[in-house]
Amino acid sequence: MNIILLGPPGAGKGTQAEKLVADHGLVQLSTGDMLRQAIADGTELGMKAKAIMDAGDLVADDIILGMIRERLESDECANGVILDGFPRTVAQAEGLDAMLSEIGMGIDHVIEMQVDEAALFARIETRAKETGGARSDDNAEVLKKRLEVYHDSTAPILPYYRGKGNMSVVDGMMSIEDVASAIKEILGGQ
Ligand code: AMP
Repeated sequence: MNIILLGPPGAGKGTQAEKLVADHGLVQLSTGDMLRQAIADGTELGMKAKAIMDAGDLVADDIILGMIRERLESDECANGVILDGFPRTVAQAEGLDAMLSEIGMGIDHVIEMQVDEAALFARIETRAKETGGARSDDNAEVLKKRLEVYHDSTAPILPYYRGKGNMSVVDGMMSIEDVASAIKEILGGQ
């Protein structure tokens, strides 16, 4: 089973992805986590990505698609994946589709987590406190920019997936457990 989790920064995609990993043995592919790992490893990609991420902008589509392809093609993903934070642009969504048909994979569920954006500022503040400020982009100023980028570049992929007929919407303002139950229901109680 392959799943895409969509929603603005702070919607809870990572939290729900972790639950799906635990419950279904799926592999979480978070492009944000991959980029943060590249930064921690001090790679050339990491060094380039850091400035872009700190500004709340998007890393180039070809870099992101290359990272995803490498992982999707590996055996660890054979049981299924949860795409978290990817795709983020129409070009990425189209690139993903081309890649999936080449590899012979498909997406079973696209789940959009809808949230009240005013509440995201408090959530990000809480995450920054809980992680001891581990993410340099977890602050109100960068979040504002990330939300703008979400509306301009990422929201246009919602109609792309709506047209495919396997997209569902979840109220991301519910408790973590209730969101998890709603997702479980979408997945057919699996
Ligand atoms: P995230 O952890 O998903 O919130 O991502 C953190 C940051 O990493 C984003 O604000 C972007 O700068 C970058 N990033 C993560 N995923 C992508 C993606 N699919 N496309 C472009 N940039 C990304």
